[in-house]
Amino acid sequence: MKPFLPGPTMLLFAMLASVVMLRADDRRAARAPATAALDRFDTARIVHVASTPRLLTTPTNGAITPPMATSAWSQADPFAPVYLVSSRETYQGIRGVARNAVARRDSTGQPLVISETRADALAAISHYVHASEGRCGGYFAFPSRVQAEAFVAADRSMQAMKASLLAAYTLDNQATVARWLPQVQEQRLYDTINHLSSYRNRYYASAYGRTSAEWIHAHWQSLAAGRSDVSTELFTACSNCSTQPSVILTITGWDLPHEVVVLGAHLDSINANTRTDPNQIAPGADDDASGIATLTETLRIALSEGWQPRRTVKFMGYAAEEVGLRGSNAIAQSFRTSGVNVVSVLQVDMTNYKAGAVTDMKLISDYSNADLQNFFITLFDAYLAPMGLTRSSVACGYACSDHASWTNAGYPAAMMFEAGSPSGSFPYIHTTSDTLATMGESAQHSVKFAQFALAYLAETAKTAPHKVTGGPAPVSQVR
Ligand SMILES: [Zn+2]
Repeated sequence: MKPFLPGPTMLLFAMLASVVMLRADDRRAARAPATAALDRFDTARIVHVASTPRLLTTPTNGAITPPMATSAWSQADPFAPVYLVSSRETYQGIRGVARNAVARRDSTGQPLVISETRADALAAISHYVHASEGRCGGYFAFPSRVQAEAFVAADRSMQAMKASLLAAYTLDNQATVARWLPQVQEQRLYDTINHLSSYRNRYYASAYGRTSAEWIHAHWQSLAAGRSDVSTELFTACSNCSTQPSVILTITGWDLPHEVVVLGAHLDSINANTRTDPNQIAPGADDDASGIATLTETLRIALSEGWQPRRTVKFMGYAAEEVGLRGSNAIAQSFRTSGVNVVSVLQVDMTNYKAGAVTDMKLISDYSNADLQNFFITLFDAYLAPMGLTRSSVACGYACSDHASWTNAGYPAAMMFEAGSPSGSFPYIHTTSDTLATMGESAQHSVKFAQFALAYLAETAKTAPHKVTGGPAPVSQVR
């Protein structure tokens, strides 16, 4: 039998048909993933349109980054549900991208809202909080509603803010402070900010977010070389911090080891225009490489002379602040659960921007301990005002930075914030322009914060004498 050979007409018809089918298949193949992503994206945008016109102005790159297949990114799934605890005012602004809201109150009576959103909406929410409320932070984030409810139910802000239990804050370590303050080097602050802002980002769910945290850990470890009373750790007991650890360096107290003084700053960064993209460009030089640099320089000076504190001191670089204060909250809750007696917390989040005729530092006036705020003023007036520096105060709002995690857990915390500009805060926060270049290629304003942190460290942790003859009154907390 002869094999079947199509005639020329038949052949032409078959070729035309296959080309048409091929092109149709191409379109289907090209469309399939994009359509799926766009459908999800459009759903989110429709929600925006329906109820939150203000969020419509939020710039986006218009593209959804699909979750990467590797397990390292699994927690960066843009469609993963996230449960927010925010103020009622913040919820009013973000309700277009948050649903299933329930009203709650914290222990101070502050109206709060627990709502549900998606991971890929967090950057837009942060952008909204910054643009419309003029601040960073703005919410706590949890992987489940049960955890969000438990967090609000266990809130101890009333105790942390109003309780007057810390009368033992005293000013009697002038010798140490006077020795330390002239040692602050602007170049070292600059170098740390420069290194940290050289990572593509320090986003909590990116490889850079982990390697930059590990660099901080290694750098702090090197400053503590040869000290058996100093330890460093990567804190990973955070269920929603992805692969980013927090960093903790501990100097064990000489005679009051169970009273703990904390100095903290967040180590992550975010670009509010790029959702969950692990390759986003987020230098975060001011927010908050400047805070980590401030702590690093404080630590260097204290350890370089072999200083030993009476109380235990913990320097902390917090993971995942920009997506709902996750690292600091995990640490504060874990300390609360295990009964760690934290007697004081200093938060430094943004220390290096000043433009125009504004005071050098702003004391954050809300969600922090009243006695500790007063002590910050005392410290400033005793040690920084004589150098010609000026201060003011400003409210920051609910869940504004990591001090709020400590306040919620019932611990006394307070925060000193940068000078900013007459019109408000740093204009380049959460953008690709948060760089040393937009801060005059200088770390001069962080110098003041390192000096404040040194005064705080010396006067809260105190200097261990060779022989104890009395010593500071114990600081105890009622639980
Ligand atoms: Zn920040």
